[in-house]
Amino acid sequence: MIEKLNSENAEVAIIKGNTPKEGVLEGIEKLGGISKFINEGDQVFIKFNLNLPHGFPTNTNFNVLKALIKSCKKAGADKIYLGSFPVKGFSIYAISNLLGLHNYFKTLGAELVYLDNSNYYNQKGIKSDKLKEIKEKSFSKVEVYNKEVKFPNVVLNSDKLILVNQVNVEPLFKCNLSILNYYSIIPNAYQKIDKNVRVGKDYLFLDQYKQDLVSKIIDISTIKKPDLVINDLFYIMEEAGPYIYKDSKLKTTGLVIVGNDPIAVDLITLNLMNINKVDSKLILEAQNKRVGITDISKINILGEKIEDISINVSLCASKLENIKTPNFSIRSGRFCSGCSKQAYHFLNFIKMHMEKDLKYNPKNSFLIGENPLDPEYFEHIILFGDCCINSTKNRSFREDMKRSHKNVANESKQKKFKKVKSTKKGKTKVKLNKKILELPGCPPDIFSSLELLLDYYGKKNSPNLKLISEIIKSWRSQQTKEKLELWEAL
Ligand code: SF4
Repeated sequence: MIEKLNSENAEVAIIKGNTPKEGVLEGIEKLGGISKFINEGDQVFIKFNLNLPHGFPTNTNFNVLKALIKSCKKAGADKIYLGSFPVKGFSIYAISNLLGLHNYFKTLGAELVYLDNSNYYNQKGIKSDKLKEIKEKSFSKVEVYNKEVKFPNVVLNSDKLILVNQVNVEPLFKCNLSILNYYSIIPNAYQKIDKNVRVGKDYLFLDQYKQDLVSKIIDISTIKKPDLVINDLFYIMEEAGPYIYKDSKLKTTGLVIVGNDPIAVDLITLNLMNINKVDSKLILEAQNKRVGITDISKINILGEKIEDISINVSLCASKLENIKTPNFSIRSGRFCSGCSKQAYHFLNFIKMHMEKDLKYNPKNSFLIGENPLDPEYFEHIILFGDCCINSTKNRSFREDMKRSHKNVANESKQKKFKKVKSTKKGKTKVKLNKKILELPGCPPDIFSSLELLLDYYGKKNSPNLKLISEIIKSWRSQQTKEKLELWEAL
């Protein structure tokens, strides 16, 4: 079942074109034409980016998908399926309805696959044995490096697999490479990294979260080797990404990279973006595990010359403080990439959608990680993640500051009027500071954190967040969350 991505003849085409569609088609031609990859009667699965209901450039460019579907049909493909798991908590059905994916692909003669089975969520009266049968038909248990994951059968049973990836900047891996796109081919429950503390190893210092994530991403990529890989960086979101945020900027590079080995395609993409392979944990892990081609000299490069192209892209803020969320003072302790990534999105989301709300709620102290410094402001203290919550349980700011100030004032009063002596020892009840918002999780879920933030500020004090929250709820209701747990691969 497991296929190594070792490709003796890695070929990658670098194309500079007038449109992304042209770039993709020219790239395929340079590699020998679509018939080199797709045979008459093939079932093809196209894995694309389907993150949030934002459209391009959060998700793959529709024109690129259209060109790809048409090419596969021209080569005689019998069935063309497209699919991906979106961000946790969102159903494919909801995103498809918002973006019109199902009908769009249908008119092109292809089919959107509801990998999460969300096309069944509104059907009534499905009995448990029917549910079991559908789930069994949808997924196979695959063992990969001694770990079991559920992998969609439609992908396993397809004759050909195409990865088409929209490149944008990304906070953990600098940019989202095709190998990262591949990871969302498995259900969110299996993408999750559980905190696994090894004896004698410092989880946070070693950033074990990232190590485990990197290892899993590369392992999953070996389950089924893609036949054709496309990194579309014709347009690339830089500065803040990979989603549309206030500081996201669309840059035009005119480039599309097409090849037959995902690691080789990603390596060339990084090279063109002036990112050294030693700075890419994914490429290094692939090299360690001997997955794919990680040596540029072993790649047959077609099209543009690699030395003629150099793209300078502004990457995501490397420090949370640099996101510059208004009215947020950030105090960090020790934290790993799990919290770092979620906090990056949380702070960018707030910056994008809550500018007005933050005028009503100034002076927020955002604490993250184990043993952070004391908050700068005491009006609103936000504790992000389990490490932060647990390590600050006994800190003085956890007490009601007004009460403490009152106690201090009383003590000084008593000192002033020394005559008033009391033999009774006053019971000092410690009142908890209610100006603290705990956002639990390892790491916290962004959308659940935003719901807690809305409850904390109150609807009146955060009208923008209230509005956005209503919109998000219509895409990601409690009912959808429950259905996802029932119907995904669990
Ligand atoms: S709570 Fe955050 S910082 Fe702590 S281990 Fe979990 S993800 Fe890492």
